[in-house]
Amino acid sequence: MSLKFYNTLSREKEIFTPINPPDVGFYSCGPTVYNYAHIGNLRSYVFADILQKTLEYCGYKVHRVMNITDIGHLSSDADSGEDKMTKGLLREGKELTLKNMRELAEFYTEKFKDDLRALNIQIPHGIYFASDYVKEDVDLIKKLEEKKYTYKTSDGVYFDTSKMPDYGILWGSKKNTDESHSRISENPEKRNAEDFALWKFNSKIGFESPWGTGFPGWHIECSAMGIKFLGEQFDLHTGGIDHIPTHHTNEIAQSECATGKKPFVKFWMHNEFVDTGSEKMAKSKGNFLRLESFTEKGINPITYRFWLLMASYRTKVNFSWEALGGSETALKRLYNLYMALGPALELAGKPETGKVYKEYQNKFKEYVEDDLDTPRALSLLWDVFKDQNMSDADKKATILDFDKVLGLGFENLKKEIIPEEVTGLAKERELARKNKDFKKSDELRKEINSLGYEVKDMNGEYKINKI
Ligand code: AMP
Ligand code: ZN
Repeated sequence: MSLKFYNTLSREKEIFTPINPPDVGFYSCGPTVYNYAHIGNLRSYVFADILQKTLEYCGYKVHRVMNITDIGHLSSDADSGEDKMTKGLLREGKELTLKNMRELAEFYTEKFKDDLRALNIQIPHGIYFASDYVKEDVDLIKKLEEKKYTYKTSDGVYFDTSKMPDYGILWGSKKNTDESHSRISENPEKRNAEDFALWKFNSKIGFESPWGTGFPGWHIECSAMGIKFLGEQFDLHTGGIDHIPTHHTNEIAQSECATGKKPFVKFWMHNEFVDTGSEKMAKSKGNFLRLESFTEKGINPITYRFWLLMASYRTKVNFSWEALGGSETALKRLYNLYMALGPALELAGKPETGKVYKEYQNKFKEYVEDDLDTPRALSLLWDVFKDQNMSDADKKATILDFDKVLGLGFENLKKEIIPEEVTGLAKERELARKNKDFKKSDELRKEINSLGYEVKDMNGEYKINKI
C-alpha cells in the first residue's frame, strides 16, 4: 500500500509522494485569534494532527508550519467588512492600538494551544504570528508589483486576477457563482469581481508600507509565511473547506505569480464542516460551542476527538449532545477494556514485553494510508480488544501502536492508574515522615517498593512512580 490522499486540486485521491522524501513540508492555516476557537475550528486541527501523525507513522519527517492570524482578516473572507481583530478589541473595550491587538492575539493563542493540548494535538514546531512577518508580505507584494500583477485603488493594493490565466483552479472554474464569490464583487473600483486585496489602507492603525499605512491582506500572510518557512514549493496545505474558493485560491495565485513556480503546493487537503444545527457556531456571533462547553459538563475533551474520528474528515458531521454522549460511553468502554488488560507494559527503563501484531498493524496502516480512513481504523481497534487469541501484553503493544496516530491517550491513562494500595501506603508514609517517625516511614517505603513503585519527595510534595 502507499499513501493516498484526496487532493482538492485534482478532485481525486492521488498517491502522495513528497518533493524531498523523507521530508514533508506541511502548512496548516491557523486560527484568527480574536476570540476562542469553536468546536468547528478544532476539527481542522484534529484533522491536520491525524495527517501529521499518519505521515510520521509511515516514516516521513514532517516540517509543519502554522500561522496565527493576528492582523488583516476581514469579517468576509474576501475584502469587505470589519477587521476581525478590531472587532475583538472593541468587544473587550480595549483601545485600538497595535500593542493591544498583539496582546489580544497572544491571549487567544494561549487558549487555542490549551485546546490543542487537551485534544492531544501536537502543536506544530513552527507556529508564527502573522504580524511578525509583515516585511515578508511587503516583499512578496513588491514582486507581484514588479511583474505587473497589481493595481492600486482608494482603499488598497489589489491583485489583478485577469492576468493569471488559470486563476481559480482550486475551486474548479472562474465562472463559479457561489455565494462566497459573488460577495467579492462588492467593490466598484476593482477591475474584476474576483480581484483581491494584497494590502489594505487604514488611516487609524497599521504598518508602514511603500503604498501607505495599513494591513496586509489575509491571503498574502499565508503565502509569505509558507514560502519563508517551507520554500517556494512544498507538499501539503490544509484548512477547512470554506478556504477553497477564496483564501487558498488566492494563496495559489499570489504565490505562483510571484515565484513563477507551479504548483505552489502539491496537495491541498480540506476538512468538511461541523454543523451544529440550532447551536450557534460562528466565532463572530459570540455565543458558540467551545471545548470548554464539554469540560464544564465533565466530558473528557478526547471524547470530541474520538467523535470526530468516527467520520471521515471529508464528511460533514452534525454535532448533537446525544451523539457526543454516545462517543463518551464508547470511549469510556475502550478505556475500561484497556485498563482491564493488566499492569502497565512499560516499567520505567525496562523494555515492553508485548509485541505489535503485524497483521493488525498492516491493516491499520492500510486504512490510515487510504485518505485517513479513521472510521475503519477505529473499528479495527475494537477488533484488537475483542481478539481472544492475543495475550494482554500483545494487545496493549498493538493498541499503543495504533494510538500513535489516533491519539486517544491510552498510554497516559495507564500511567495515571496507581493501585489504591500503593497510594494508601504513600499517604501513611507521608504522615509518618511529618511525625518524624522515620523508622516507620522507611518500612513503608520498602513496602511500596516491593509492590513495584517508588516514592520521591520533591519540593515538599511526594510523587509515586513505577520502578
Ligand atoms: P478561523 O479561525 O476562522 O480562521 O478558522 C480556523 C479554521 O477552522 C479554518 O481552517 C476554517 O476553515 C475552519 N473552520 C471554520 N468553521 C468550521 C466548521 N464549522 N467546521 C469545521 N471547520 C471550520
Ligand atoms: Zn491561511
